[in-house]
Amino acid sequence: MSNSNRDAATLDAADTLAPLRERFDLPVGPDGTPAIYLCGNSLGPMPKAAAAEVESVLRQWSTLAVHGHHQGEHPWLVYHRRFTESLARLVGAEPMEVVAMNTLTANLHLLLASFYRPSGMRDRILIEAGSFPSDRHAVASQLAWHHRSTEQSLIEVSPSTPLGQWSTHDFIAAIEAAGETLALVLLPGVQYRNGQVLDIAAITAAAHRVGAVAGFDLAHSVGNVPLTLHDDGVDFAVWCHYKYVSAGPGAVAGAFVHARHGTRSDLPRLAGWWGHDLATRFKMGPEFHPTPGADGWQVSNPPILSLAPLAASLAVFDDAGMERLRAKSDALDAFARQLIRDRCGARIEILTPDRPAERGCQLSLRVVGGRELGRRTFQRLESRGVIGDWREPDVIRIAPMPLYTRFADVDRAIHLLAEALVDA
Ligand SMILES: *Cc1c(COP(=O)(O)O)cnc(C)c1O
Repeated sequence: MSNSNRDAATLDAADTLAPLRERFDLPVGPDGTPAIYLCGNSLGPMPKAAAAEVESVLRQWSTLAVHGHHQGEHPWLVYHRRFTESLARLVGAEPMEVVAMNTLTANLHLLLASFYRPSGMRDRILIEAGSFPSDRHAVASQLAWHHRSTEQSLIEVSPSTPLGQWSTHDFIAAIEAAGETLALVLLPGVQYRNGQVLDIAAITAAAHRVGAVAGFDLAHSVGNVPLTLHDDGVDFAVWCHYKYVSAGPGAVAGAFVHARHGTRSDLPRLAGWWGHDLATRFKMGPEFHPTPGADGWQVSNPPILSLAPLAASLAVFDDAGMERLRAKSDALDAFARQLIRDRCGARIEILTPDRPAERGCQLSLRVVGGRELGRRTFQRLESRGVIGDWREPDVIRIAPMPLYTRFADVDRAIHLLAEALVDA
C-alpha cells in the first residue's frame, strides 16, 4: 500500500456519508469492473429507488387511469408538490418560491418573458463570456424577440486571470459601467467549463443597485453547493435535475421566483392552464388567475413519469443534507488537488479556483501540451475505467461527488491520470 492508499482508506473509514453510495447504481468500465464515475456534473447516476417510483406511476395509470389524477398514493394533480419542501431546502428558498416544471432552457425562456422587460435605454443583458451555448442562444433570441441586437445590447464579461477565472469585481465593474442601460443579469451559480462558483449575493446586490434584475442559471449549482436564493434576494433562477441531482436523463427541471414577485399582477407571463389557481382551474373560465408563487409559472400538466425519479434522488439529499455533503466535497477536493500536484506536477493545470468559496465538486483540468495530448490523455483515462468528460478545446472535467465517490476512487483516478499522461 502506498501512503495515498493508506490515507484514502483512513478517510473512507471515517466517512459518515459512505453508506449513501449503496443507494446508487454505478456503471461498469470497459473491463466489466465498476467504473470510477466522476461525471455526475453531466448526468448523475441512477438512485436505485428511482425504478420503484416510476413503476408506482405506471401501476397507478394501469389500475386507475383517469382517476389517477385524484386518487392513488400521489395524485397527479398535485404530484409536483411532493418536491416543494425538498427543493426549497436545496436552494435556500421559501416553499412558494420553487417549482419543478418543464426543462431548463424552456424555464429560462418563460422567466425571461416575465423578467426581461426592456424599455427605452434600459435594454441590455449581461452574461459571462464563454457561457453555456443554450443560455447565450436563449438570451440572444430574447433580444431579437424584443427587436434588439446582440451587438448593441448583449454584454459578455471576460475572465480577468490567466487561468480564465473571474473576480467578483469583474462582474460588479461591468454592472456599474452599464448602469441604467442594464436591464438584466443572467449568470451561472457555478460556471460549467471551469467549475468556478460565483458570488450570487454580491452580484445580485450590484444588479439591484443599478436597477437591473438578477437571474441565475443554477444547472451546476443545485445539489453541488449550498444555496441561499431567498436571502440573497435573487429575482429568479432556473436549473436542471439530471446533473448533480441525479433525477435521470431529461428529468423535469426547476425554477425559483422570489416571493416579492410571486403575487405581482403587473408581470406579464407566457401562461398556461396549469399555472391557474387550482381552486378554480377546472371551472374552465376564460380569465387567468395565477397560483401565487413559482407554481403560477407552470404552463402544462407535467410529465409525471419524468417527475417520478426526482422523489428518489431528493430523498437521498434530504437524508444527507447539503451541509454534510459540502463538507465531504471539500475534503474530496483537497485530497484530489494534493494528489494531482504530487503526481502530475506541471503537466496538469487546475483551472478551477482553489479557494473553497469559489469551487464545488468539479475540477477542470487542462493538460499542458495542447489539445491532441489532452484528448489522448482523456481517452486513455476512459479506457481504464475513469468516466469524466471532455470540453473543447482542452479541458478534462472530473467531479468527485460526495454522494458516491470514495477517497479510494479519487486516489485511483489520479493514479490513472498520471499514468495516462506518461503514456499519451
Ligand atoms: C446543462 C446546462 C444546460 C442544458 O440545458 P437543457 O435545457 O437542460 O438541455 C443549459 N445551461 C447550462 C448552464 C447548463 O449547465
